[in-house]
Amino acid sequence: MPLLDVQDLTIEYGTARGAVTALDEVSLQVEAGEFLGIVGESGCGKSTLLFGVAQLLSPPAAVTGGSVRFDGRELVGASVRDLNALRWSRISVVMQSAMNALSPVKTVGSQYRDVLRAHRYDGDWPSRSREVLELVGVDPVHLSSYPHQLSGGMRQRAMIAMALLFTPDLILMDEPTSALDVVAQRSLMVQIKELQRELGFAVVFVTHDMSLVSHFSDRLVVMYGGQIAETGPTRAVFDTPRHPYSAGLLDAFPSIRGSRVRLTGIPGAPPDLASPPPGCRFAPRCPSSSDICAEGRPPLYRIDPVQVRCVLHAPKEVSA
Ligand code: ADP
Ligand code: MG
Repeated sequence: MPLLDVQDLTIEYGTARGAVTALDEVSLQVEAGEFLGIVGESGCGKSTLLFGVAQLLSPPAAVTGGSVRFDGRELVGASVRDLNALRWSRISVVMQSAMNALSPVKTVGSQYRDVLRAHRYDGDWPSRSREVLELVGVDPVHLSSYPHQLSGGMRQRAMIAMALLFTPDLILMDEPTSALDVVAQRSLMVQIKELQRELGFAVVFVTHDMSLVSHFSDRLVVMYGGQIAETGPTRAVFDTPRHPYSAGLLDAFPSIRGSRVRLTGIPGAPPDLASPPPGCRFAPRCPSSSDICAEGRPPLYRIDPVQVRCVLHAPKEVSA
């Protein structure tokens, strides 16, 4: 049984223009101790997915279909009380901007204390707080600092430390390094990976930067327009991106060690989810599209070890 099992999760935002399906039947599994990377351009539904998994959606967003099972328990429709019992202690979330997630008017230490108290931590809270800050490489003197007194990188580390207070089984991270410069990004990634090896938690890591997760994630989910475009072991997706969108995303970021090449990127813009294209959502931007792409919605085809939503990879029909 996977630690996290998401099946056909569908999430809609109610808007003046009607319902926007921001997440369309997304299924994924995360094993204990695994690192799953979720990549895709801004607006493709990454945060919606993460908030849906954590059951942190608020109106106008709502889950309209599917299930989220954590350690065998259904979270969709679970009571606030049951969800609160899991938060921090078994599942924690690190948001995109620590500036928004940490309270500006409280010291780091008092925010840790609030979390520990709310979950009836029975140990010595100051020493646990010092311990987690040390784990992420921040001097524990900063327990008495306010968030604005820390650098961007230190704030993100302080957020990650807060997520570690109870050593959860699963940490959901929404672009936790996107506010940092490239050097700070790399060092934070290395640190997250080391902590994961040491403490054994699973990570779901959301980013728009495919090269950032390439060295760190076991498996990848490439999202486009609220759907999974391609998923599989990171190496398999990287070595042979089968979906034209995955290939485009890979070309859009410089490789850290590779030779200098011209970055091509992907022309055009992601679909308007209020009125997505009728067939394949990527077809209007796809260099390989043909007439059939506009016809039906392609399913996820299984081509071991990956799955890809593109008719180029439909199994060939065997003629009699
Ligand atoms: P990402 O995190 O990949 O940038 P989001 O999950 O934030 O994407 O958003 C996915 C899509 O959901 C957006 O493209 C938009 O269509 C829709 N969406 C997000 N937030 C709202 C909202 N508050 N109201 C209406 N639609 C929204
Ligand atoms: Mg987002």
